[in-house]
Parts: sequence; structure tokens; C-alpha cells
Amino acid sequence: MRSLRENLQRANLHLARNYPEPKIVYQQRGTAAGTAWLESNEIRLNPVLLMENQQAFLDEVVPHELAHLLVWKHFGRVAPHGKEWKWMMETVLGVPARRTHQFELHSVRRNTFPYRCGCQQHQLTVRRHNRVLRGETEYRCVRCGEKLRPEPPPLS
Ligand SMILES: [Zn+2]
Ligand SMILES: [Zn+2]
Repeated sequence: MRSLRENLQRANLHLARNYPEPKIVYQQRGTAAGTAWLESNEIRLNPVLLMENQQAFLDEVVPHELAHLLVWKHFGRVAPHGKEWKWMMETVLGVPARRTHQFELHSVRRNTFPYRCGCQQHQLTVRRHNRVLRGETEYRCVRCGEKLRPEPPPLS
């Protein structure tokens, strides 16, 4: 938490913004050290890897994931490890911009759900997805007119 706050403070000063503090959740499983969840402004950390690599998490994983969230807020949709992210890491946060942490696989997630129509895949936001699940509404593709179906179909 302190590492996150210090890094965020540094970024807000540098960018002259007041980006809100992300939520940290310790429920990342598997081999990933962490994930950055863009729309919900959330960093999920792997509690097992955190215990085993505390210094690396403070020095690298937390700034790495935070940089993804800041890039999303500051630049919108750009390549996850592109020049904006590199700039955020090196110039703004002062951390070497390595794409992956030495001990992990890593991913950036959007909180969207894949849907399919007759012609393409669509990404629905959590809010829209929940409205579909509750049966409040349905969405149609503007191109082919077909109703969007969740992909893969939910287990019933
Ligand atoms: Zn990354
Ligand atoms: Zn379509």
C-alpha cells in the first residue's frame, strides 16, 4: 500500500493530475504476479508470490501494474507495453521498464465480456453484461442486426 501511494503521488505530481488510488486485492491466483484491471481501477496481487518476493513486488510489480492503470487513464486505449507505458515507468515513476517481472507471467485485463453476433465479436462492459444477465435488455449488432449472445455461453 505504501509503495502504491508513493508511486501514485509521484505520478500525480509529475502529470499535474489527481488520479485516484487504485484498489489492491490480494486474490491473484496461478503464476501471474499481478494483473491490472482497467475499468475498475484495481490491482490484483498474487499473495503467494508476494510473500516470496516482497522486495521485487515493491520495486517492480506494484509500479508496473500502477503504470498500466495510469496509462489507461492518461492516454486511453494504447498498446499495453508501448511507448506510453515505457514513458510512465521510466520518466514518471523512475523504474526500469521491463515488460515482465523475472518470476512471472503477467496480463492486463479489461473488465469486459465477449459477446458474439452473426458477423463479429463484441465487448460488453460489466454494467451491460449484468443487464443482459438480469434480462433487463438485449443488445443488437448495428451491422448485422443480430442479437448479441455471450461467448462462451454461460453454464446453466
Ligand atoms: Zn505489464
Ligand atoms: Zn453483427
